[in-house]
Amino acid sequence: MNAESPAMSEPVSSTEDQRVSELVGDRLCATCCFNLSGQTIVREPTYRLLIVRCPECGTAAALQEYPLLGRWANRLGYFFAALYILAMLGLTLGSAGGMFGLSMGANELLSQKFVAHLTELQQQRANANAGPQPANWTWQTNYEKDRLWWESSDKWELLQQAGGLSEGVNWNGLVFVLVMVLILFPVGLVFGATMPHVKGWRMLWVPGAVMVLCMLFLFVAHLSQRSQRWFYPQWSGPQAFQVVVVPMLCLFGSGVLLLGMAIGRPLVRWLLVLLLPPRLRGPMGYLWRVDGLAMPRTRG
Ligand SMILES: [Zn+2]
Repeated sequence: MNAESPAMSEPVSSTEDQRVSELVGDRLCATCCFNLSGQTIVREPTYRLLIVRCPECGTAAALQEYPLLGRWANRLGYFFAALYILAMLGLTLGSAGGMFGLSMGANELLSQKFVAHLTELQQQRANANAGPQPANWTWQTNYEKDRLWWESSDKWELLQQAGGLSEGVNWNGLVFVLVMVLILFPVGLVFGATMPHVKGWRMLWVPGAVMVLCMLFLFVAHLSQRSQRWFYPQWSGPQAFQVVVVPMLCLFGSGVLLLGMAIGRPLVRWLLVLLLPPRLRGPMGYLWRVDGLAMPRTRG
């Protein structure tokens, strides 16, 4: 800085502000609370101080800052960065868990009529097997026969017998899908608002990760069901359904999540302007900045 006679070093327009840079980060006007982010930083002529003038009310804000917390500010910063990453991972895992659980719940209900049909078939098979049995017969023999029959049967054909897609499926199970939308859409909003750097096609990473986790859960569920390989309508019905139903519902849920993320920032911006007074809204300036928008006005 030029300490001696600053006014002299500015030959031409000494009464005018000299543009220096642009303000990055949130700083609220002390008078009207307008977020000054993105405004021009100027060197005012009288004291040669760096200031930003509020475009709304004209108040000058000084940019002098003194470190208040020393190294603790950095430590707190690292702490909150770690906390943020943990929260994002937790939210991803939680979304996947919720989505998978609701898909399995929907699957259970959707397959209800199919299970009823299988129970009927089981009864018919038991009746057909009634009567005198061969000498080496045990209960195990029937179970084994049932299992072989079930494994070799065409599940789609069985569903057609149960009434097909219109009659053989208990569509009330879609209630779970409604719950899924009600949960995953707000979660998408949170992702969109808290991950402002994730834009465009990179937004696919979050629903993609959730989808992969769900398929992992389905695989683990499949492994744990290997002990239930006997034909038993209450197990076999949902198991035949889940191969198709759970991936489809999880894909749908991921779509809802993506939609929440995509319209998250505009919606959250709108809500903030609608609900919060300017003073509280100020620190959320990044939601405007990240999409290259002007800061919201504080008056009219
Ligand atoms: Zn102002």
